[in-house]
Amino acid sequence: MLPEAEKDTPTTISIIESTDEDQCLHRRSGRSSPPPPPDASRIRLAVKDNIAAQGLPTTCASRILTGHEVPFTATIVAQIESRLGAELWGKTNMDEFGMGTHSTNTPYGSVHLLEGRSAGGSSGGSAVAVGLGQATVALGTDTGGSIRMPAAYTNTVGFKPSYGMLSRWGVVPYANSLDTVGLIAKEVAPIQEIIQAVCMEHDPKDPTSLPATVRERCVAERQYYPSSRSTAPDLQAQGLRGLTFGLPIEYNIEELSPRIKEGWMQVTDKIKEQGGRVVPVSLPSTKSALSAYYVIAPAEAASNLSKYDGIRYGKRASASDSAEDSDTASSDALNGILYAKTRGEGFGPEVKRRILLGSYTLSSEAVDNYFKQAQRVRCLVRRDFDRVFRLSNPLLENEHDDGSNEQQQFDLSDMDESVPLESKFGPTQIDFLLCPTAPTTPPKLSDIAKQTPFDSYMNDVFTVPASLAGLPAISIPMALPKSEEDLVDFGGVQLIGQFWDDARLLAVAGHIR
Ligand code: GLN
Repeated sequence: MLPEAEKDTPTTISIIESTDEDQCLHRRSGRSSPPPPPDASRIRLAVKDNIAAQGLPTTCASRILTGHEVPFTATIVAQIESRLGAELWGKTNMDEFGMGTHSTNTPYGSVHLLEGRSAGGSSGGSAVAVGLGQATVALGTDTGGSIRMPAAYTNTVGFKPSYGMLSRWGVVPYANSLDTVGLIAKEVAPIQEIIQAVCMEHDPKDPTSLPATVRERCVAERQYYPSSRSTAPDLQAQGLRGLTFGLPIEYNIEELSPRIKEGWMQVTDKIKEQGGRVVPVSLPSTKSALSAYYVIAPAEAASNLSKYDGIRYGKRASASDSAEDSDTASSDALNGILYAKTRGEGFGPEVKRRILLGSYTLSSEAVDNYFKQAQRVRCLVRRDFDRVFRLSNPLLENEHDDGSNEQQQFDLSDMDESVPLESKFGPTQIDFLLCPTAPTTPPKLSDIAKQTPFDSYMNDVFTVPASLAGLPAISIPMALPKSEEDLVDFGGVQLIGQFWDDARLLAVAGHIR
């Protein structure tokens, strides 16, 4: 049994026919009672259903967590409520445990903003709640693109902060080394306001929350912040003068739709008009980033999801109760039956696929060829980014780290294709990378249904590199040329910044938007 959302599935909404309740899975006042009249002066905050809010279920859109309530509120929700006086609007639909790209892997019914089109995933419900104006700001999680992708497919702004900036206490983990909490809104300004309010706060309850000393060091290295330590420069006067934007040549892939490419090029023209420079750059490890992500994320997921065994968390398979009474089987065998039944019934097909994939790549026969190789690729991806950015990565010991730290952990010698430090593709001293968020406009749900899982993974090709490197990235809507074949005009352009360059990234995004 699912929570009541299954009974009146909030599925086939169009942008015109939507009602205020469509995107809300759980709200404090109860789904059947009408929502209180909105107070226009307050932020109405939608929260993805893998982020805890006391008094509301946190089900991660999984049958295995049917009706599950976490007895506390996630730090980030509490911070936004207390610092900014936000009111919690409700919980939003998503891909089960954050695994997916179109918010179709959910027992509540898939979400979409445009009739028959993907709203992106996994934070699709959050993006649609914002797109419909039901929430002013929505919290999502982004492990490999789950905030940026829905933002691109719903014409909203989606921001993934630097890894470790926002607290993940109270957020159900998918892949711990990649998970971030981020924000979706129609404009950049409300996101900026929230980030400014909370970006310096270490949360002792979250072991991945950056300690105060590291935050101070990160800020100290960002000389451009004039007065306040967390506020980016006011770009009103100077425009984008003095800033260099890199176009990664490896992102010009075959799968990139001509409309998205043209939209991307139009953004570069806009940047140049405002005084910014645009140069091509090379990020050679990009090609392998997607494969590395789909090894690392499922491996961490398989480990995280092992706790859902029907005993400690959530739902337990009902038929297994009678098996417990059997006196013919040993208790180990009975437990095995209980686990298998609970997990078989509780997890959806994509989650099961990830568990199998992750368990395999971590197995002794595969770990060297898959998991460790993927970690090496991750180091190379990070190094590519550090090579092109003007700012150094404040997490590295030496200012111009040559990757030797990583080499101590993972031998990169057989993998590094001797990429010259000074690439022939122009200066590597850039401030931001500029690339599409997704290769196409929102795909049709009918086409997605025919795709293999691997086709779907392909959509994440532009979002996973920043995740592997823990960098801040934002998707903002971009104008697309008209097309008679594709009437949908939603497309996102992505800006990626160096680690802890979030404030400046947001300021620039606001300027370009
Ligand atoms: N689509 C990616 C995946 O399925 C990213 C998901 C996410 O960022 N949570 O893993």
